[in-house]
Amino acid sequence: MRWLDKYPWLYNCAECGARVKVTKDGEVTRTCNHTTANVNAPRRTILTGDGTLNGVPWKLRLEWHLRKLLTRLTGRCV
Ligand SMILES: [Zn+2]
Repeated sequence: MRWLDKYPWLYNCAECGARVKVTKDGEVTRTCNHTTANVNAPRRTILTGDGTLNGVPWKLRLEWHLRKLLTRLTGRCV
């Protein structure tokens, strides 16, 4: 299970890393008992300026798309 630590849940418990569900209305449902712990929301981001994406190799762009897809499918930050 160690390797999964590299891909934390999009919302997780700051204390133990367990998955936390957050609705669009901000309703929080925890899967562990740390009711007072913070909720982490790790995200990878890609920041680009005007037109700079055009110079990016297609292999890298494909990787970004794969990551977005995996994040959507698994609910983890990939
Ligand atoms: Zn916890």
